[in-house]
Amino acid sequence: MATLEVECPVCFEVLELTDDDRAGLEVGDVIVCDSCNAEMEVTRNAGGEDFELELLGVLTTCPNCGEEFEVTEDLVAAAPVVQSSDGVEVSIVPCPHCQARIELEFAPDSDAAV
Ligand SMILES: [Zn+2]
Ligand SMILES: [Zn+2]
Repeated sequence: MATLEVECPVCFEVLELTDDDRAGLEVGDVIVCDSCNAEMEVTRNAGGEDFELELLGVLTTCPNCGEEFEVTEDLVAAAPVVQSSDGVEVSIVPCPHCQARIELEFAPDSDAAV
């Protein structure tokens, strides 16, 4: 059975989709990355390598108030980027519930859009 490997655009975890998985997916369905909770919408599913995803956002739990909220690309684009204590670049996004500033670590942009 053919397995399509799709790289998560956020954490670069490889998600494996079997033919069975894809048979159950339609354009507009949402896949959630196992490792970072990124939500991706299926925009093409025409067989073979003809498969595309569009990143919707990442579900994050606020460490301050415990509420879940979605981090979208727009939110990240607007977020200031700072260097954390261990030298990693993090984006600071505000929690919509309690306004806490939350550090998020994202892999750098890749042009390998899948
Ligand atoms: Zn991921
Ligand atoms: Zn919060």
